Amino acid sequence: MSAPQDDLTPLFHDTIRRFLEQEVAPHYEAWEEAGEMPRSLWQQLGEAGLLGIDLPEALGGSGADFAIVQLALEEISRQGFGGLASAYNIHANIVMPYLLHIGTPAHRERWLPAMASGEIIGAIAMTEPGAGSDLAAMKTRASRTESGWRLDGSKLFITNGQVADLVIVCAKTDPSAGARGVSLFLVDTTLAGFSRGQPIKKIGQHASDTAELFFDDLRLPEEALLGEAGAGFAYLMQELPRERLGVAAQALGAMEGALALTLDYVRERRAFGRAVGEFQNTRFTLAEVRAQIDMGRAYFEQCVAKYRQGEMNGTDAAILKLQLSEMQCRTIDACLQLFGGYGYTREYPISRFYLDARVQTLYAGTSEIMKEVIARSLLGKSDAP
Ligand SMILES: Cc1cc2nc3c(=O)[nH]c(=O)nc-3n(C[C@H](O)[C@H](O)[C@H](O)COP(=O)(O)OP(=O)(O)OC[C@H]3O[C@@H](n4cnc5c(N)ncnc54)[C@H](O)[C@@H]3O)c2cc1C
Repeated sequence: MSAPQDDLTPLFHDTIRRFLEQEVAPHYEAWEEAGEMPRSLWQQLGEAGLLGIDLPEALGGSGADFAIVQLALEEISRQGFGGLASAYNIHANIVMPYLLHIGTPAHRERWLPAMASGEIIGAIAMTEPGAGSDLAAMKTRASRTESGWRLDGSKLFITNGQVADLVIVCAKTDPSAGARGVSLFLVDTTLAGFSRGQPIKKIGQHASDTAELFFDDLRLPEEALLGEAGAGFAYLMQELPRERLGVAAQALGAMEGALALTLDYVRERRAFGRAVGEFQNTRFTLAEVRAQIDMGRAYFEQCVAKYRQGEMNGTDAAILKLQLSEMQCRTIDACLQLFGGYGYTREYPISRFYLDARVQTLYAGTSEIMKEVIARSLLGKSDAP
């Protein structure tokens, strides 16, 4: 993790570590089976001061450095709770900053203290069945009414979607205006016209719920608009670097956790009369993993420092997300290999690290889209579709 920016870093790290060991580890298996985490977990996280780490104190937070939120993501992932890490990333590292950066004072007052206490759970809904990488193809529509807005459409793959009380929804407000025709809305999920589909069955991150959401003649008050009408894409671009930093923090934590498990295993497991860790292949594989994590961490820390100065741009975020998520999949695959057949069983947590890693190159922008973003910074926009 980057150099502590204030004295609170070790204190928070200790709180996070202990919270996970005491409140999460004993139950995580059951939550994975259930496909969701209990609401009470969010309240416990709030009580422990872990949901409003960098939120101003006046809004119920601790006013600490944003890098501590990344440290929380890293620690959750290091302990092997990839589903919780994604759910936490959405709530505390994405939705809360959107509200803080773009919301009005009334928005912040209404939602942020309750999100910091874990009473309100947040989600963000951009993806649709026909619009993932190509977000501009979204069909969800918000039209003006006399008293506000009317929302119709649906969203897919929404993390925390089954439990969310508040969803930031991206919708087209002016279909003829292209990129300037998209706006963000704060949707209270108790409103009539909001519904959720069955939980989506995934191959990993089972404790994190992923939902399909439907909006059917959902009436929103004027103040549900987040920021300016038509500026939705600009806000997404502004907030994406932090989302991708969070994914990178998850990658770093997971790689550290997987490496630690593997080191323990290869010291114990024997084949051909010696510890597996004595084979040159094992030693070189683990040396390679260590070297990759350290290289990845160096770039991550550079990005954290840039973000703090308001200088981390979209290309930095794309390079970071591309490299660390791909590295995570590669290194954890190499670690699992050293477990032999045991690595393929649910009994050994390395298998969960492996399954949880896979989505990291997909969500928050796929690796291919990251490469497009980077290429655009080199060659300009391509004419190819
Ligand atoms: C577990 C999980 C949680 C998620 N959570 C959320 C959430 O909370 N909120 C939310 O809004 N979304 C969420 N998503 C959605 C996620 O962001 C999308 O799945 C992702 O952006 C990719 O979109 P898609 O699935 O429609 O794939 P597609 O866009 O259909 O892509 C299919 C393939 O085509 C490639 N491709 C597409 N365009 C190009 C191009 N121009 N050049 C080269 N290759 C291209 C892609 O890289 C990919 O390999 C989540 C997804 C998952 C699986």
